[in-house]
Amino acid sequence: MIYEQLGVPTIVNAKGTATRLSGGIMKPAVVEAMAEASQHCIDMTELQAKASVVIADHTGAEAGLVTSGAAAGLLLGTAAAVTGLDPGRMNRLPDTAGMPNEVVVVRSQRNLYDHALRTVGVRLIEVGLPDRYAGAGVRDAEAWEIADAINERTAAILWVADPAARPVLAEVTAVGKAAGIPVIVDAAAQLPPVSNLRRFIDEGADLVAFSGGKALGGPQASGILAGRQELIMAAALQMLDMDILFDQWQPPADFIDKTRLKGLPQHGIGRPCKAGKEEIVGLLTALELFVAEDPAARRQSWLDRCREIVAATGALGHATLELHDEGEIPTVALTLDEGRAGMSAFQLLLALENGEPSIRPDNAALDRAQLIFNPQCLELNGPEKIGLRLRELLTA
Ligand SMILES: *Cc1c(COP(=O)(O)O)cnc(C)c1O
Repeated sequence: MIYEQLGVPTIVNAKGTATRLSGGIMKPAVVEAMAEASQHCIDMTELQAKASVVIADHTGAEAGLVTSGAAAGLLLGTAAAVTGLDPGRMNRLPDTAGMPNEVVVVRSQRNLYDHALRTVGVRLIEVGLPDRYAGAGVRDAEAWEIADAINERTAAILWVADPAARPVLAEVTAVGKAAGIPVIVDAAAQLPPVSNLRRFIDEGADLVAFSGGKALGGPQASGILAGRQELIMAAALQMLDMDILFDQWQPPADFIDKTRLKGLPQHGIGRPCKAGKEEIVGLLTALELFVAEDPAARRQSWLDRCREIVAATGALGHATLELHDEGEIPTVALTLDEGRAGMSAFQLLLALENGEPSIRPDNAALDRAQLIFNPQCLELNGPEKIGLRLRELLTA
């Protein structure tokens, strides 16, 4: 096994599709498609043009691009919003002098993935005072505050998708439409439900970025940018290898309309976002499988694995296990009686991580003395390993 050869121990990933835990596990059909793709050469622009058709089909967007991840999609989408189809502007990035270089974002939606936007050379303009989070009030940002922040330097509006995000997307896209400013949606981790592939586009988003390596089940280093044709064209021009003569280059016209370009940019700011042919083919295969799979069956398989964790663990001293059969992804929550167990939930987490095998639960509820076990990325024997180790550590 390759990880044995490399001396890298495999882990029990009970956290979910986190990048630091290597995302998830691909279906055999995805692996086979990638292996096949690796045995032949093709023209990358032609492959991305076909990917665009497949992505458009599943998202309802005009066009799409396979990137190296959702963060890459955010970078490319921002670059597209700043440059449009101007190759001179593309070559000058991240120097945005003389270009629209502000992106408006609701303060409560800020997160460090927006480094991907700032890489392009834009400044984030925060709006709103989310006093609902302080418990001191009930408000978050409102649509008029976004509208107020728009001026001649505005390149885009960023909206980070989450059921709790305010204002809701439809209000934000209405502001964007009225001002002629594109709305970029970070929807990296918003799958499932499968309906979210279309939802943000339906609600008026100009660009949407998804992770390929999260629940979609594609290669860990893959992602989707879907949206308006012209913006996808501008994004593709800043990611693809443009080391070719303008008159020699013959991109498929429905993907890149050469007649709209006065020349070709060189390697753009999105060049480090490159997706290989293997990732593109793997992502497209995973996307087809994800859409085709019965959502109830997908959820049931996760629920089955949660039940296996509960069954494999049995009764514990000073801790209770509870199946959380709600939301898109069912989980198992372990609540520790920290006083009687003589250890904190954090110490239990470290003991699991540092054991053999290393078990990595979700640490999101430590302040409630809980460890959460997510079934999405477990191998078949994962529940058994979790149960065994928990009994070792917690049998009174
Ligand atoms: C995971 C995530 C990203 C980054 O996605 P990658 O595909 O790993 O690049 C960006 N934004 C949010 C909200 C995420 O959860």
